[in-house]
Amino acid sequence: MIKTNYHMHSTYSDGKAEPEAYVKTAIERGFSSIGFSEHGPTKFIKHWELKAEKVDEYIGEIRRLKNLYSDKIEIYCGMELDYFPGIEENAFSKHDIDYVIGSIHYFPGQDGEIYGVDCKFEEFKKTIFDYFEGDIKAMVHEYYYRIIQMIDKFNPEMIGHFDLIKINNNGQQFFKESENWYKDEIMKVLEVMAKKGTMFDVNTGGITRGFLSDPYPSPWILKNGARLKIPVVLNSDAHTPENIEGNFESVREIMKLSGYKSKMILREGKWEEVPLK
Ligand SMILES: [Zn+2]
Ligand SMILES: [Zn+2]
Repeated sequence: MIKTNYHMHSTYSDGKAEPEAYVKTAIERGFSSIGFSEHGPTKFIKHWELKAEKVDEYIGEIRRLKNLYSDKIEIYCGMELDYFPGIEENAFSKHDIDYVIGSIHYFPGQDGEIYGVDCKFEEFKKTIFDYFEGDIKAMVHEYYYRIIQMIDKFNPEMIGHFDLIKINNNGQQFFKESENWYKDEIMKVLEVMAKKGTMFDVNTGGITRGFLSDPYPSPWILKNGARLKIPVVLNSDAHTPENIEGNFESVREIMKLSGYKSKMILREGKWEEVPLK
C-alpha cells in the first residue's frame, strides 16, 4: 500500500512533537506523502487549537519542510476546522492551505460554554443532559445535521472522524447503531457526500488511543459508502510521530471487506485514486 497520512497534529495544536519529527518518521517508514491538519483557530478559547497569531508561522514552517525534504517526501499543509452555526462566512477559505478536514468536536452553548462530543465520558454525559435535555436522539440528529450544513456551506475535502458521536458509546449504552433512526441519520449525510464528492477521513485514531475497536466510520457505514462511491482517505489522526501509521493494516482490511478497492492520496498537489493493496 502506498503510505500516506493527512490527519496529523503537531505542537502547533494539540500534538506532542514538532512537525519535523513527523516528517523524519514518515521518511524512515517509507511514506510517499503526508499532511498536517492542526485544529484551526475559532472565536472560542481552547487550549488544543492553533492560535490565530500562529497561523502564518504554522503555514510557513510546513512550507519550509516541504521544500527542505522535497527529494524524499511530499508534504502538505492542511487544517482540521470545526463547524458550528453562526461561524464566519470565510471560516473554511481564509487560510492559504492545501485541504480542509471538516469536523464537529463540540456544540457551542448559548452561555458561551462548550459542550463536548470529542471528550471524556462525564463531559459527554453533560452534553446529553445539559445541552440536549437527556435526548440522545436529538444530540445525534444535531451532530449529523451540522455535518450536512457544513458540507452545503463550505464543502471541505473530507469529513473528520465521521461518526465521532460514538466515541463514548461503547457497549452501545446510549444508542444502537443498528436501529433504523440512526441508520436514517447516517444515510442522509452519505447521500449529500456522494453528491458533493466529499471524502471520508477513515480514521484509526480511536483504535490507536484505545477508545474503540472500530475505525471512524464504522464498517457498516463504510459498506454503504463504498456502494455510493464515496472516496476514502486512510488517516491515523496522529498526535505523536509513533502513531503515524497506527492500525493502518487492520483498518485497510476492514476497508477492503467493506468493498473499497482504492483510496485517495495527494500527488503533486492533486487528489488521486490509488489501489488499496
Ligand atoms: Zn478531530
Ligand atoms: Zn484530528
